[in-house]
Amino acid sequence: MSRKQTFVHITAFASSLALIFLGFIFIIAAFSPGRMYRIAIGAPMVALGGLLIYRLLKPKPKILTVTVKWDPSGKIIAKELKCPYCGAPLPPPKPGIEYIKCPYCDRTVKILEEPIW
Ligand SMILES: [Zn+2]
Repeated sequence: MSRKQTFVHITAFASSLALIFLGFIFIIAAFSPGRMYRIAIGAPMVALGGLLIYRLLKPKPKILTVTVKWDPSGKIIAKELKCPYCGAPLPPPKPGIEYIKCPYCDRTVKILEEPIW
């Protein structure tokens, strides 16, 4: 993650917190007599802030790499390929294909070719 992205991330996180905080103030203020309508302002603010934080904290899908070794005739000499996420056996990759989708957990695995000559 670059420095600029981290900065944007922190700024977004801080504004989400501010939104939740302001929303709570509105909700608390709604308890004064005749100010019940303030809940209608505070509640969506808290909800929006919570949603933003949830989205910020959700980890982005990572793509793991498996190394495949090829012998000169192009056959796979490496042991059975295994999904780095769930350990399920992966279908043998064709040379030149970079990504395999795991049939068990549906995650994408990057195939790294390493020819041995
Ligand atoms: Zn898997």
